[in-house]
Amino acid sequence: MTSNNANPHHYSLSDGDLKRSVDEACANDLSIELPVRFIVELSVAPDIDTIMQVIARWSRAIFRADRVTIALPVDATHLRLVAMEGNDAIPLDMPVPIAGTMVGRVFAQGKAEICPDLTLSEDWDCKMLTSKGLQSCLDVPLLSGSRCFGTINIGHCHRNAQDVADLIRLQAMAHWVASSLRIHHQVDEMRTLADIDPLTGALNRRAFARKFAAMSADWDARGDPKKAQLGIAMIDLDHFKAINDRYGHSAGDRVLIRVKEALADSCRDGDLIARMGGEEFCVAIPDISQPGMLTVLDRFTKAIESVYIPEADQHINVTASIGALLVQSKMDDQDKLLSLVDGMMYRAKESGRNRVLFYQ
Ligand code: GH3
Ligand code: MG
Ligand code: MG
Repeated sequence: MTSNNANPHHYSLSDGDLKRSVDEACANDLSIELPVRFIVELSVAPDIDTIMQVIARWSRAIFRADRVTIALPVDATHLRLVAMEGNDAIPLDMPVPIAGTMVGRVFAQGKAEICPDLTLSEDWDCKMLTSKGLQSCLDVPLLSGSRCFGTINIGHCHRNAQDVADLIRLQAMAHWVASSLRIHHQVDEMRTLADIDPLTGALNRRAFARKFAAMSADWDARGDPKKAQLGIAMIDLDHFKAINDRYGHSAGDRVLIRVKEALADSCRDGDLIARMGGEEFCVAIPDISQPGMLTVLDRFTKAIESVYIPEADQHINVTASIGALLVQSKMDDQDKLLSLVDGMMYRAKESGRNRVLFYQ
């Protein structure tokens, strides 16, 4: 173990030493005793959250630790504790900065560290642990391939509690957990890609159908549709072909991206925005009144009119024809609703474009 230059009271293994230690551990049959219940609980865990809780609980038992935490990244600068067992020195869900912390360094460098005496450490998280009676800890990265998903930290209330064998054992467990994390992440990423229109980032038609079905089932279940209704707007850009013809297809693409952004800026979190086809968008808005819906539609119109595409070196005049309706109680199935709102949009086109028609 070598002391870290910048953090003299923290120890890690160089890549060569780690490989040698692992080889040695394998030659000596270094093992981890895994309780059958741990394996059973892990195999039935339905999601990442449960996997993290199971790992934290059993790591505490296996390593006889006073505290175990698992931290995953929230953004480029922070991690978040997603699972915790034992001592709550740093509470669950508290953001932990990557800079200036042991856990952040392990995550960023993908290299395990031991701090045998936390009272000597300058790291923010180590000071937090010390203030609640912990005296040593070991932190290992959740590495799969070249990707680091987070870290597992085990802490003890006495000094020098962890050694290289613990590091090798915990790192082996972390690799195992990380490979299952990678699979969950890949499934999530594939699901997201399958739902999203790659040009604008809006939902695609199929994802809209699924999410709108869930939204309207939820709205139906809550009852009292008079008070809070469910609004739908179908938005088709006017003479979009002419924009492509005049400014080029890539300027047309930029218009579509800006229109999606303009719609998103006019909506609340939780509203659905979908690109249903070429230059046609659909928005579903839960919990809205008729005056509220009119205000939102007015915002859409103004936001679309103000779309500005610098490449074209001038203001491209974009307008839209919009059909809208408020869903009545248990009114109709999704196909019928979409065909009604589509019909209103076509009537808006026929009656001169650049207008909103509301189904009454
Ligand atoms: P209207 O006012 O009747 O809606 O006329 P329009 O020109 O908007 O409608 P039309 O259906 O005639 O043409 C739609 C155009 O949208 C034609 C097509 O090339 C263009 N389009 C569809 N998808 C894309 C895309 O992804 N990018 C770009 N730039 N254009 C697209
Ligand atoms: Mg059009
Ligand atoms: Mg169209």
